[in-house]
Amino acid sequence: MYYLGIDLGGTNISVGLVDEDGKIICKSSIPTLAKRSCESILKDMAQHCLEVLKKCNVAINEVKSIGVGSPGKCITDKKVIVYACNIDDFNNTAIEPEIRKYIDLPVYLENDANCAAIGESVCGASKGCKNSIAITLGTGVGGGVIIDGKVLTGFNYGGGEVGHHVIVSGGEKCSCGRRGCWEAYVSATALIRQAKIEAIRNPKSKLNTDEEVTAKFVFDMADEGDETAQNIIEQYLEYLADGFGNMINIFQPEIIVVGGGIGAQGEKILQPIRENLSKKVYAGNLETKIVQAQLGNDAGIIGAAFLGKLDK
Ligand SMILES: [Zn+2]
Repeated sequence: MYYLGIDLGGTNISVGLVDEDGKIICKSSIPTLAKRSCESILKDMAQHCLEVLKKCNVAINEVKSIGVGSPGKCITDKKVIVYACNIDDFNNTAIEPEIRKYIDLPVYLENDANCAAIGESVCGASKGCKNSIAITLGTGVGGGVIIDGKVLTGFNYGGGEVGHHVIVSGGEKCSCGRRGCWEAYVSATALIRQAKIEAIRNPKSKLNTDEEVTAKFVFDMADEGDETAQNIIEQYLEYLADGFGNMINIFQPEIIVVGGGIGAQGEKILQPIRENLSKKVYAGNLETKIVQAQLGNDAGIIGAAFLGKLDK
């Protein structure tokens, strides 16, 4: 059997056909056009699934289900998107009836960061681990917590939002409205904000550039020996390790998988974090593995597709 996985994002809708082993047979994206009605977006999602099946010559009776990974909050068992960040029209929207108007397959729904965590745990960096956390360091900070093989959702499906635990009381303003959240210190957005502030304070720094400052640029300048960039990265890694230490003390995952644009820095960030963490974890003994994500953007599609496979 095959499984369809949809990664619904604010910019693109990515659809993938996934086999029993979690391999993507075929994938394709269309623009979300996030300002339109949710009916119109759901129709496009369903029709694009049909197109993907056609493209790889797979009949609908060879597909078990469609899984959708959505940003924001979802009531998974009712297949209701409570809200989807950056896609305005989803407001307590039941997605299954609308999708089934166009493609008659069972529909599953889960938060996108949780889908990425599931994807990595079924065939990526945390494969075989029953207790894992997947962190995506991007524009924001996504997180999915898997305990005993199940996604931690809390009683109201709002759980596992690891980006929004406060590490600096009264600190920087977060996208969620609170101050001092981990996301406000370790997202790419936060790193860029800090680089811009420090560039003004240090006129000789290479961070003063006519180019657009990206997180990668800050890492590159640190590599080139720019002292200001190096100090920013050092502080950044301290914030990262603080959050990792908190998560380890609370959940004791076997493994933490780090993805997103900044996760792509790999060992350059992971090794200093491991060294720092031995000072932060309870009883000072770091047993949790800290590794780079393996599946990149495919994790969300694979995790969404596997919602149907994992449902027994
Ligand atoms: Zn927050």
